[in-house]
Amino acid sequence: MTERVIPLADHRYLASLPAIPAILAAPTGVLLDRLQRPLHDLRISVTDRCNFRCSYCMPKEIFDKQYGFLPQSSLLSFEEIARLAALFVAHGVRKIRLTGGEPLLRRDLERLVALLAELRTAFGDPLDLTLTTNGSILAKKAESLKRAGLGRITVSLDALDDRIFRRMNDADFPVAEVLAGIDAAERAGLGPIKVNMVVKRGTNDQEIVPMARHFRGRNVALRFIEYMDVGETNGWRMDDVLPSAEVIARLGEAFALEPVPVTTVGETAERWRYAEAGVAGEIGTISSVTKAFCHDCNRARLSTEGKLFLCLFASRGHDLRGLLRGGASDAEIAAAIGLVWQGRDDRYSELRGQGVAAGTGERRVEMHYIGG
Ligand code: SAM
Ligand code: SF4
Ligand code: SF4
Repeated sequence: MTERVIPLADHRYLASLPAIPAILAAPTGVLLDRLQRPLHDLRISVTDRCNFRCSYCMPKEIFDKQYGFLPQSSLLSFEEIARLAALFVAHGVRKIRLTGGEPLLRRDLERLVALLAELRTAFGDPLDLTLTTNGSILAKKAESLKRAGLGRITVSLDALDDRIFRRMNDADFPVAEVLAGIDAAERAGLGPIKVNMVVKRGTNDQEIVPMARHFRGRNVALRFIEYMDVGETNGWRMDDVLPSAEVIARLGEAFALEPVPVTTVGETAERWRYAEAGVAGEIGTISSVTKAFCHDCNRARLSTEGKLFLCLFASRGHDLRGLLRGGASDAEIAAAIGLVWQGRDDRYSELRGQGVAAGTGERRVEMHYIGG
């Protein structure tokens, strides 16, 4: 194997050009990392920009007018994204989630959706193609996304109360427009819809039960997400985390819930349904802080400028754009991706949960750049 590793200076995050092995093993549809975790899920960030300034993700004080977002030329083009996605799919990826920043801000995103919708898994099946959005322009976009081939959608919504919602998005954006976006997505057939609520103790935890009440009876999976210490800018404190166990305890006082058995390996949410017969809707909790799920984490993340990250808490990426624009062939890039994944042993949350200092001490990547 050759060791063509060229460290690159990058103004944003450290990345190195992945090594291209001397013998180019073709993808087999099954790729395991050092902890025997398969590569199944690819999250692609299509922009580092956003029209919201959620304090847990892009606090206004840092992401202000002076902040240097990526120039257009740094972004992967849709053709570059689709080319890389096809190689990941050949390695076993079955699910692709478009994210950001706010993915719906990327112009003509439907064109990328259409390119990705053509891909087939290593076993010949259509991909599970989805997108996470803040919902702000979803009412306008739902139909065209569906027509382009998007399968389903996840909408982030942190409160129903308009005052609390405007404060959380810190862009004075009204909740009614996001709710209209969810309705439009439902009408367009982008279900089953997931709604993600990041819970911050003392900020929006009073919205837990009203959110459940609002979506109860609809074909919507409502997910409560523990506020995570991702990135370096959100001033995260453990005191602000409301553990999922407490979320479920509060919901249990309002509704009769019963657990839903796990159906897929790598499923990050613990799920509950309403015990009453015939009531649609589902509750899920994502306990990234209090109950790490690294042991079956099967996700790779492709940043806006084409760096592959193996963990949400990583400091370093693998510069796939460097390979693409340096003229590497598909076989070379696929083999390089294979080698990177085979070397993966990341399990940040698990180590932190055990009180082991995880990470390298280098600056950690931000959520809006790597994609949630
Ligand atoms: N802008 C889109 C949105 O908000 O849905 C997509 C990108 S956003 C980074 C993806 C997801 O990450 C959102 O559901 C958001 O709530 C979540 N997120 C961002 N920062 C987080 C944090 N510190 N802890 C937990 N979840 C977070
Ligand atoms: Fe934007 Fe999503 Fe981050 Fe909020 S969570 S600032 S909507 S990228
Ligand atoms: Fe996966 Fe890293 Fe999160 Fe663990 S900490 S679940 S390895 S992304």
